[in-house]
Amino acid sequence: MRESGTVKSSGARGGDMAEEDTITVRCPLCHNEHRYELRVRRTTIMGLTFFGGRPEVETKRHYDQAVLCPVTNERFVIPITLTDTPSTRIDEVTIDLSEDEDDADD
Ligand SMILES: [Zn+2]
Repeated sequence: MRESGTVKSSGARGGDMAEEDTITVRCPLCHNEHRYELRVRRTTIMGLTFFGGRPEVETKRHYDQAVLCPVTNERFVIPITLTDTPSTRIDEVTIDLSEDEDDADD
């Protein structure tokens, strides 16, 4: 019998963490500002944190993420720059396609 479905992480990996961030971009399509929720998952590599007491080398990583303009209903790509270090490696970057409407029309 074949197993189907998703493979669940047992949490044994440890060290994973997700950051959530809200980014505001000036839309090139409708020229309004839109807010999107960005999630960055990093893997913390234990033991590298105190790597000989040397300062960590930061690497700038660039990600292009497609988002949806709620006004024109068209997609556009926004460039995202994140900082990566040897002990906290970026695993995955995801962005909500739709605008974050948490506190719209205040
Ligand atoms: Zn727009």
